[in-house]
Amino acid sequence: MNQQVYFFGEGQADGDTQMRNLLGGKGANLAEMTRLGMPVPPGFTISTEMCTAYYDQGGDDLPEGLEAACQAAITRVEGILDRKFGDSSKPLLFSIRSGARVSMPGMMDTVLNLGLNDEAVEGLAKESGTARFAYDSYRRFIQMFGNVVLDVDGEHFEDALDALKDARGVALDTDLSAEDLQQLIQSYKSIVREHAGRDFPQDANVQLRDSITAVFRSWNNDRAKHYRNMHGYEHDWGTAVNVQAMVFGNMGDDCATGVAFTRDPSTGENLFYGEYLVNAQGEDVVAGVRTPQPVRKNSGGESGSSLEELMPGCYGELIDIVGRLERHYHDMLDLEFTIQNDHLWMLQVRSGKRTGAAAVRIAVEMVQEGLIDTHEAVRRVAPDQLDQLLHPMLDPKAETTLLGKGLPASPGAVSGEIVFTAAEAVSGAAGGHKAILVRRETSPEDIAGMEAAVGILTQRGGMTSHAAVVARGMGKCCVSGCGEIILDEAAGTLQLGGKSFKRGDMLTLNGTTGEILDGEVRTIEPKVDDNFRQLMQWANEARRLRVRTNADSPHDSRLAREFGAEGIGLCRTEHMFFGEERIAAMREMIVATDLASREKALAKLLPFQREDFVGILDAMDGLPVTVRLLDPPLHEFLPQEEAEIERLAGELSVTKERMHQIVDSLHEFNPMLGHRGCRLGVTYPEIYLMQAEAIVRAACELKKAGKDPRPEIMIPLTGVDRELQIMRDLVATRRDEILAEEGLQLEILIGTMIEIPRACVTADEIAKVADFFSFGTNDLTQMGFGYSRDDSGSFLPEYVERGILPRDPFQGLDQGGIGKLVEMAVELGRAENADLHLGVCGEHGGDAESVGFFHRAGLDYVSCSPYRVPVAILAAAQAALEDAR
Ligand code: ADP
Ligand code: MG
Ligand code: MG
Repeated sequence: MNQQVYFFGEGQADGDTQMRNLLGGKGANLAEMTRLGMPVPPGFTISTEMCTAYYDQGGDDLPEGLEAACQAAITRVEGILDRKFGDSSKPLLFSIRSGARVSMPGMMDTVLNLGLNDEAVEGLAKESGTARFAYDSYRRFIQMFGNVVLDVDGEHFEDALDALKDARGVALDTDLSAEDLQQLIQSYKSIVREHAGRDFPQDANVQLRDSITAVFRSWNNDRAKHYRNMHGYEHDWGTAVNVQAMVFGNMGDDCATGVAFTRDPSTGENLFYGEYLVNAQGEDVVAGVRTPQPVRKNSGGESGSSLEELMPGCYGELIDIVGRLERHYHDMLDLEFTIQNDHLWMLQVRSGKRTGAAAVRIAVEMVQEGLIDTHEAVRRVAPDQLDQLLHPMLDPKAETTLLGKGLPASPGAVSGEIVFTAAEAVSGAAGGHKAILVRRETSPEDIAGMEAAVGILTQRGGMTSHAAVVARGMGKCCVSGCGEIILDEAAGTLQLGGKSFKRGDMLTLNGTTGEILDGEVRTIEPKVDDNFRQLMQWANEARRLRVRTNADSPHDSRLAREFGAEGIGLCRTEHMFFGEERIAAMREMIVATDLASREKALAKLLPFQREDFVGILDAMDGLPVTVRLLDPPLHEFLPQEEAEIERLAGELSVTKERMHQIVDSLHEFNPMLGHRGCRLGVTYPEIYLMQAEAIVRAACELKKAGKDPRPEIMIPLTGVDRELQIMRDLVATRRDEILAEEGLQLEILIGTMIEIPRACVTADEIAKVADFFSFGTNDLTQMGFGYSRDDSGSFLPEYVERGILPRDPFQGLDQGGIGKLVEMAVELGRAENADLHLGVCGEHGGDAESVGFFHRAGLDYVSCSPYRVPVAILAAAQAALEDAR
């Protein structure tokens, strides 16, 4: 069995940074910094195994032996600091800090100043020579202990504090006197008695035991569970508990506390970046109690207020530590520090959360600085983060009305309707509304609303506030700390820039500049920069899997090509039938009663289709373009409204009754399982013949113009090899006739989509008549699970919430089930036809995790929407690098 607690202090530590799973990220890195000889207050880490043991044995008592092990470690800390835990004249105080193997910012709770009681606070006052500090620490402890350990609503404490400040006519906590704080302590103790039904415990050992238990319990609070579900983290990892000697940033004006990043987390620029507060403790900086000041000179804030100017000695030491840490960890880091009487203490280090743009820039620059190699750079950027880089920004030419400015907390630009609560954001999003969540400041309870909103705006809080950190992690546009806002959440109004807004009014946020604009503003597509191109180049060198795009217009094709697409994996043709003149011809074809009139109508469509294909093949010159023949059921092209049906009857010169008959006859109970895909081709071969002709003729036209068109013809929805055989013969014959007539030699493959489970299990038969397979994983998921894609919204979210499914299988491929079907088809297909090309064209082709699976399954390519192309490229590269390991 492993140790129960791991000591760190005075340059020695039982743990190190490799031991994250056991010690949590915070504990492992406190140990590592201690080993590096950095100033870290001594303490010890209770392992995550103790948390799981606590739950395994029912969640009542601490695991056996743990209290004794803690006692031994406490004695060691007492020896180092020459103070005693529970002592009333020279008390040793601890912080109790949770820390899981992955960082879960703001999800778990911390208790500071533990060990204080009515007597010890007097001792501390005498010893430190500042009564104000001692009482301030004690009232904070009672509040945190009451809130975190005893579940007393924090509001009660806040209200008592506000009432006292009002009575004294002061604005800031720091303006309260020692006597005021003493009075506050009495109020806080009665609040605890009233709401927790027990007295605030005076015994330090009871305080400690209860706090450790509370941290264990906080692992399973709702917001922690929600956060894990959101990120796909396991619920049985457990959290470690760090018990660490306190240092004080609230002892006076030569004290401070702050948070910092070794580089700018928004842009990635290699500049030390952080915020701090003089005479403050703990989370004051992130909670937005006062507006924090920048650590570095000339980086905003009031002049002369930076740490660099006010405490140059500590700043210099901090800069030195930052450099050493970056060289040690080879990463951009997020730090927490506290200064007590001009003495710097490091309280936390971890890999810093960053925007997509910053992730790319830091990875590329760290290669240039020799800190990491190109493979590591490719591994460093989470594929989904690239999405942010490709987010829209405001059209600089758009007319805008600036209302006010906050901090540029998380980039991108969005317009949406104002909501004031997380619940409104969630319900608004469910109703298809784009919500901008406006809050005084966000808290972890708002997490679901932040996720549902398109953008977040807060009145308080800095660049490292909860709102800012969480929004950046989500890649969501956020403007924080806009103090000009006059907010009345209860009334549902806000005032800004001399204008009044209510719930539902439109607002635009520019998270890149911090600007807040009136109404809706036009946005434009982002442009990629040199760092991005460099990273993509390294990813391209590393990957095996090719990446194509799903596009059915020349515009999308060009966009995707710019993002690195290597062809089109799915060009849908049905959208092409909806133009003004086209839909008329299409409908004429549908209502036709005989072959001759159907062919006549199709002949009208032919030139349109051909023209479309010329555009797309030209945009993808030299690259493969897989065109899918008509797939949806025909009723989708007919009107459903009475008036529309009548009008159409008039246009097509048939009676109203006849028109109704036709519409009725096309009605299906289960259209997704009905007369669609190649079933249409089998019953109306003339449709597929027209489409094949349009494709081949478009290719010939380009070929003659000296281009290099590479179309592939894809038959959808094959379930039986015989179906495909018939369709293939049909299309291949027409292809060869036209090529012979044009006197050209062009390779035009004919293959099929694999999207019916039967096709997967008979893939060997189907491979005999296919040049390629393209897995349509959307339909394959639908049919494999028997979940209607259009109706699953009523139960799938609950399935995911309750852990019945790890993810929505329409977003992330169900590797254990649908994935097995894919693997089976790959194996059977390749065994029969060694030249078979294999790809994926479902939504999953742009999902990083699924792309990894397709790489391992041995596919040749994935295909996804243009904006997901870089995501797929990076995911493919990471999968290849993973392989190589
Ligand atoms: P989180 O995981 O939410 O960041 P932490 O465990 O890091 O929580 O604690 C929050 C804050 O409490 C820290 O940023 C730091 O300011 C303060 N804190 C924690 N431990 C100590 C300590 N030993 N001395 C002084 N302040 C501390
Ligand atoms: Mg916290
Ligand atoms: Mg922290």
